[in-house]
Amino acid sequence: MLVVMQSRATEQDIQRVVEVIRSQGLVPHVLPGATRTAIGMTGNTGAVDKALFEVLPGVEEAIRVTKPYKLASREMKCDDTVIRLAQGTIGPATFTVIAGPCSVESETTMLRTAEYLMGRGVKFLRAGAFKPRTSPYSFQGMGLEGLRILQKCRERTGIGIVTELMDTEYAAAVEEVADIIQIGTRNMQNFSLLKRVGQCRKPVLLKRGMSATLEEWLMAAEYVLAGGNYDVILCERGVRTFSDHSRNTLDLGVIPPTKAVCHLPVFVDPSHGTGKRAYVPAMALAALAAGADGLLMEVHPDPDHAASDSAQTLDFATFDQLFSRITALAPAFGKTMS
Ligand code: PEP
Ligand code: MN
Repeated sequence: MLVVMQSRATEQDIQRVVEVIRSQGLVPHVLPGATRTAIGMTGNTGAVDKALFEVLPGVEEAIRVTKPYKLASREMKCDDTVIRLAQGTIGPATFTVIAGPCSVESETTMLRTAEYLMGRGVKFLRAGAFKPRTSPYSFQGMGLEGLRILQKCRERTGIGIVTELMDTEYAAAVEEVADIIQIGTRNMQNFSLLKRVGQCRKPVLLKRGMSATLEEWLMAAEYVLAGGNYDVILCERGVRTFSDHSRNTLDLGVIPPTKAVCHLPVFVDPSHGTGKRAYVPAMALAALAAGADGLLMEVHPDPDHAASDSAQTLDFATFDQLFSRITALAPAFGKTMS
């Protein structure tokens, strides 16, 4: 349920609504808007009477939210979410590129990549210190040492860090180093992990599960929002289909329906979405045209020798070309580079 306040409602009126929500055993979520505040509530709202709120001073109306994902829905919050970070703003008016190697593999490679990206105006570096690999015999990531390297990249260059959290055990360590915490496709429905990042005070980039429907993806986002972390970025990274011409099928068609029902920023990962570096530029540009708010891409100084996902990783020269094209085209889609 959503309680919409009148534009002249006072702070005291808002607090009274918050208290009544709590008295019902529910969790209040205060959502300030351009002209008036709305207060969402989560929990088992089925038996709660709307009249309980509509009689309170300063309340315009109480509305039942019909979608199962409440806080993620536009019914609850119609304005697009804007996420402000030290390195840039993520939202409907901007286009943000996050780039870097699949894994943190050495300090030299990471520093080189961070310096290169910052030199081009790319303000977010991606790389996993903890890697979810299909085979237990594949490189599993550098772990805490990898986080230390990422921290160094940030200190040296000021670049924002995007890195994956795989399990609750390392949540505090990842939260300390990351500017954006990535939740991978295989963990999209790891509910303990989602609840844990709901407690974090850093934005969360939530990859779509490789077989998740839009509703399942938004319900996963709902776990994070319900925990009180409202800064969630959705990231489409390709789904499983019968196609055998690419690693995954990059579902750009999910962007307009997502935007229709949900206010969160949507990113696209054309690297995992195609699995082949030759196809990344076309799909990156298509993502911009389809309404994405940013990209997550794998880039490495020597992709052929990358520790993981070599086949889908761009070299610097190809990335340069693509980034120039994105920069040139973004204004045509109402976006400035961030
Ligand atoms: C990654 O970004 O390196 C990654 C492991 O992605 P995904 O979870 O989409 O496979
Ligand atoms: Mn990868």
